[in-house]
Amino acid sequence: MSENSGFHIQTVVILAIFALVFWLIHFFNKRQPFSGWIAVAYSAALAAYIIDSTRSASTNIGFIFVSTGLFWIFSLAIAKAIYVRCEAAFPNVLMGLILSSAMTSFVVLTFVAPDISIRSVLVSVVAAILLALALPPLWRAGEKVIDGVLFGVIATVAATFIARIVIVYSLHGLTLTEQSYSQSEYAWIFHFTSGICALALAVVLLYAAGLDMVWHFHGQSNRDPLTGLLNRRGLKGSFNASADRRQKKVYVRAIILFDIDHFKRVNDQYGHAVGDKVLQRVAKTASGLCQEQGQVARTGGEEFAILTDWIPLETAQLLAQHICDSLRFIAHPELAPDHKVTASFGLAVLTDADSLHDAMDRADQALYHAKRNGRNQVALAEAA
Ligand code: GH3
Ligand code: MG
Ligand code: MG
Repeated sequence: MSENSGFHIQTVVILAIFALVFWLIHFFNKRQPFSGWIAVAYSAALAAYIIDSTRSASTNIGFIFVSTGLFWIFSLAIAKAIYVRCEAAFPNVLMGLILSSAMTSFVVLTFVAPDISIRSVLVSVVAAILLALALPPLWRAGEKVIDGVLFGVIATVAATFIARIVIVYSLHGLTLTEQSYSQSEYAWIFHFTSGICALALAVVLLYAAGLDMVWHFHGQSNRDPLTGLLNRRGLKGSFNASADRRQKKVYVRAIILFDIDHFKRVNDQYGHAVGDKVLQRVAKTASGLCQEQGQVARTGGEEFAILTDWIPLETAQLLAQHICDSLRFIAHPELAPDHKVTASFGLAVLTDADSLHDAMDRADQALYHAKRNGRNQVALAEAA
């Protein structure tokens, strides 16, 4: 190593730390393949950097081949991580075509028509293209600030990969040789910009991975684990979020509460596990029938609430009636054939002044009337 060895050691340490951090995030949080791919990228970058910064005129071409491959794997794994994060289909064929033509060109520029200058252009251009493949899914996802930041940083890094060769070769011409590479200005700029780019990218990617974890746990805290429906807290979030979404003056929001009839008997006769299965089917049916018309939450043991979106009152009533009619036809193979599971419903229209609690109270009173009236029916709450 030369006088730059201090810088090299610093870069190696930084790359190693980020590789380790992303591996740790990945292993402690298996659901996040995003950080797994970033860990692959930084491990590849670390190995590529060590090989390239210790390289001399006598270094075996095999090592140079490996370090170039690892550098491309860095870009490729970053792009893959972004596709995983955006849940977009990875362009395997395009990636294969780029990599195979890049490898072929590399072999030609090494053995057939050796030219290390052109080869260094190839290395950076291919890395930039592979990285730029991450941009379209980010552009399409782009509703969150973090997507915009990732787009900006990845675009800048890809542009830097191109800009650095343009700058060096416009100043010095294509004069690089195998002998002069390790001491060249090109090698210095290559290592310096690679280190800075890797650092900038890692900070943003780490932030994105952290945000994903926070959203994941936040999402979990809003959901009921048995049915996957919203819980009370999630319902409150939906209530607040939809407050300003009204489209027409005649549209209303309604709360439809429903409670499974004689559910205790299901548990008593068939056991708690069967009761759980019944709850899951009821939840699935109700949320399937609601679709975009409302959010279903599990607000108690065998009690559910639907917050409708802004819809005509008749639609809310029809929705409640439709779910009520459908529940009794769900097949529950664990129960006796004549054992029908039904539910009773209370529907309350929300006024502008209502809190979620007020509307739930009124819907609960209506539900009580439905139970008193013989169950398996919908009752409309009195106006507030
Ligand atoms: P009603 O028609 O008046 O609503 O009668 P019910 O039997 O449905 O009402 P009750 O409140 O007496 O019983 C509710 C039962 O729901 C009692 C409880 O064991 C059961 N339950 C509550 N949460 C769960 C759960 O998560 N899983 C199962 N399997 N059962 C539950
Ligand atoms: Mg009940
Ligand atoms: Mg109940």
